[in-house]
Amino acid sequence: MAKKDQRMSETETEEEETEAESMSESESGSEEQKQESKGGGIDYIMSLPDVPRNVPPHVELQRTRVFANIDAPTHTDSIQYSGAFASVGLDNSFRLDQFRNNFRVEVIRFSDDGMDMEFDMIGIDPAIANAFRRILIAEVPTMAIEKVFIANNTSLIQDEVLAHRLGLIPISVDPRLFEYAENNAPNERNTIVFKLHVQCAKALEEEKGQSKKKKEEKKVPPRITVKAKDLKWLPKGSEFYLESEDSNSNSTSKSKTYTSFTCSQDSLPEFSNNKIGFKEPLDDINIARLGPGQEIELEAQAVKGVGKTHAKWSPVATAWYRMLPEVVLLEEIEDEDAETLKKKCPVGVFDIEDIANGRKRLTVAQPRACTLCRECIRGGEEWEKRVSLRRVKDHFIFTIESTGALPPEVLFTEAVKILESKCERMISELS
Ligand code: SF4
Repeated sequence: MAKKDQRMSETETEEEETEAESMSESESGSEEQKQESKGGGIDYIMSLPDVPRNVPPHVELQRTRVFANIDAPTHTDSIQYSGAFASVGLDNSFRLDQFRNNFRVEVIRFSDDGMDMEFDMIGIDPAIANAFRRILIAEVPTMAIEKVFIANNTSLIQDEVLAHRLGLIPISVDPRLFEYAENNAPNERNTIVFKLHVQCAKALEEEKGQSKKKKEEKKVPPRITVKAKDLKWLPKGSEFYLESEDSNSNSTSKSKTYTSFTCSQDSLPEFSNNKIGFKEPLDDINIARLGPGQEIELEAQAVKGVGKTHAKWSPVATAWYRMLPEVVLLEEIEDEDAETLKKKCPVGVFDIEDIANGRKRLTVAQPRACTLCRECIRGGEEWEKRVSLRRVKDHFIFTIESTGALPPEVLFTEAVKILESKCERMISELS
């Protein structure tokens, strides 16, 4: 049995070495292709400064790449164990100086509205990339509506649903300017108060009972849509008086309302030129539809919180990553085969270039666009032997879609600060 295993292992090794050799031959034939596939070949990998010289190329490939085979991915694990490659003389332990030298962040794309950002994180472990994702979703704070005081609601939406909808509207304000409310009374440093009072005009007596067509002709009475922009900021705090207090009383004490503001928020330097509200396009979010005579009157208090308490405080619509795809041609693919393979790819990873005598050759034009759908290696072993699909284990394409409270680049730096403070806390607890 042991002999059989050994034979199998030797056969696998030979196959992988053959693949590696064939790759080297293929890549040495095309300098341009090497550039385009950026990091696809053994030579490139072996030229990286952190790659030990005494590791066989096929082991190095398995250490740094996930292979997307036709049936299932292989070598998916991220091997951080320092002695993982001790038998081939490699010290696999984490080295801070190498991490410092190799780690890079490259911004690739900003959306026109500044809400989305795509960037590459290179030279990092999947666990760290995932930590950033989780911190972005659940631990970077924002402001969101937490309490709603409804004075009147004759719309079709129930009070609870209305309050829930209000909570999910992203507020365009920097949460770093506020404190956590916790058990403190709502004040100008921990609470934002909004007022919503909208009413749809009643139908006139003579218009009642008219047909829908006639009403539409006369354009009366209208239905209205309540939008986020209808929420008005109250910088002086709540205007609703506590039930036990008489609103007509002569006393002017602010403690009689639902907040305890000591000053108006718009007198604070951070808000004097920066009104709190819902900036475009967030101000266009629908809250409710009102029919003739219907009315909503309420006050909403927004406080600081984090996404792990409730999703309404999450600062991102989504934060996600994928490992950099790598598409490597193991041999030259020319003429009809090149055309066939180009057509197979649904996202246009491949291109065709003209070579001498009217012949054509396949190139990997946009490896980054590859979704690893594996369509190009379906249709028989012949394709699997010609194209190798991989992912680079330490290169992450990270996308952040902000909800609008903070720009994505600020969200990421906040996530870094949170991870740093967690590390410091851990170190102090261990020491
Ligand atoms: S795996 Fe899919 S997306 Fe990637 S190159 Fe092949 S066909 Fe194109």
